Amino acid sequence: MTDIVNHKHTVDEVLGLYRKGGDEQYFGEEISQTEHALQSAWLAEKAGASPAIVTAALLHDVGHLLHGQGEHIADEDIDARHEAVGAAYLAQRFNTEVVAAVSLHVMAKRYLVGTDPAYATNLSPASVHSLELQGGPMGLEEAAEFAAKKASAGAIALRRWDDEAKVVGLKTPDLDHFRPYLEASLRR
Ligand code: FE
Repeated sequence: MTDIVNHKHTVDEVLGLYRKGGDEQYFGEEISQTEHALQSAWLAEKAGASPAIVTAALLHDVGHLLHGQGEHIADEDIDARHEAVGAAYLAQRFNTEVVAAVSLHVMAKRYLVGTDPAYATNLSPASVHSLELQGGPMGLEEAAEFAAKKASAGAIALRRWDDEAKVVGLKTPDLDHFRPYLEASLRR
């Protein structure tokens, strides 16, 4: 019983971050953090991703909400390492599949730019700018190492949804719709 109460509390707390701080603009883009999160998770759900990967898609940018400097990070040329901040927070609450996908989603962008020429041409200007701050495209050796990681497939899929999840005005399911995915992905 206590576990069920704790789990409900954890999911409420995490979704609460989006209810409170999620109206902030997804930096450099015309949509809010919460809209971006919902679009990412919805794409993952429609693709038939596992509960952990749908959860990771919803929460992949939670680091931006935690350090509350969402809006102008890229403008100020600070690489805020939001994926590490987010992964550390999520590691206390969710399983390792969620944590690994979130912590690798920026590496996955560097991987895709380094290995898929079509991918690079579709990046938004804000994403191209942050790429430089994140270390630029991966070289061949680093890309091969990354592809060999167990969690890289989930992170790469997440990255592609992340890039698509910037559609102004798109109607999506709401935060509560994704609650079961979060509940299924809690740390045991
Ligand atoms: Fe994102």
